[in-house]
Amino acid sequence: MSKNITILGSTGSIGRQSLEVIAACGMEAVALTANSNVALLEEQARRFRPRLAVLADERAAADLRVRLADTGVRVLGGMDGLLEAAALPAADTVIASMVGMVGLRPTLAAIREGKRIALANKETLVCAGTLVLEEARDYGAQILPVDSEHSALFQCLEGNRDRGEVKRLILTCSGGPFYGKGREELRQVTREDALRHPNWSMGAKITVDSATLMNKGLEVIEAMHLYQMPVEKISVVIHRESIIHSLVEYCDNAVLAQLGAPDMRLPIQYALTWPRRVPGGPARELDLWHCGPLTFGTPDLDTFRCLALALEAARTGGTAGAVLNGANEAAVERFLRGEIGFLDIPEQVARAMDRVKAVQDPTLQDVLEADRAARACVRSAP
Ligand code: MG
Repeated sequence: MSKNITILGSTGSIGRQSLEVIAACGMEAVALTANSNVALLEEQARRFRPRLAVLADERAAADLRVRLADTGVRVLGGMDGLLEAAALPAADTVIASMVGMVGLRPTLAAIREGKRIALANKETLVCAGTLVLEEARDYGAQILPVDSEHSALFQCLEGNRDRGEVKRLILTCSGGPFYGKGREELRQVTREDALRHPNWSMGAKITVDSATLMNKGLEVIEAMHLYQMPVEKISVVIHRESIIHSLVEYCDNAVLAQLGAPDMRLPIQYALTWPRRVPGGPARELDLWHCGPLTFGTPDLDTFRCLALALEAARTGGTAGAVLNGANEAAVERFLRGEIGFLDIPEQVARAMDRVKAVQDPTLQDVLEADRAARACVRSAP
């Protein structure tokens, strides 16, 4: 069970909910990091009194240093600060909840110190899953999933003694805000439409990914790496209610599912308290008697092309995941800035996947280069 925790990305949605869990479960936050949100990091630092507070943005860090001068909290800035927070000797656990590929280096730094990693940064595994898991094995770092689907799979796989008995992993997918719509309707979708998710409250990037179904595609690749399963043994089922968080089908056709209210604080807490469960956490109770019927359907891969592209990248392997992810991050940024339409996101990802060839058995350098080339390809697209 975790006691002393570093949060990489404490001002984001997962970071804020992690602090609620830490407070409720009597754990300690020893380091907090964020990108540039000075006001919120100051508030968190005053309440949780970590030893170290870091802002990636150097100018914001200088501002924070002045604001926290009376507290004794050490303040650092930039990538060096993030790496120091990730490797802080006082922490036994690092919650990796930065958004995007920028989380890769700090996560690797924490792994090399043998920390328990509560992993919420799916991009890290999508881009460099093989490398990250190899390092985790070499340094004896446990990786526990925070993503609700992967936490569900993890729970359904506990007690499984032989991976050969697993027939397939089934990831549930809410379908996002545009479920049931066709391509014509999606052409007109605005930034505001895409940012309205029916079940989960999350940051902007992941909410857009949930609307395109890229999020589910990234999660398939994440599951491949975490559970060492080929993509052919991973399926996606539409489940609008987000009550079942994922399922494991075994070779005798038994299917195990994990259910709960759609509340990220539950998988966060389990990643921190594993292998125990503790009462008194902040997650909501599931009221089965009033949650209504649970429904299941097939994802529409023609309309939501991002999911099909992710499955293609999963089959290709090597740096294909890094190309997919880098292109998607850049395309979502362009969509959020109003430069491209909703249906241009899969177009631009597909274009990058065509142009940037995948390298097999990549080094970290190959992964970073694939990411860079994919982003450049999207930024130079019309
Ligand atoms: Mg998820």
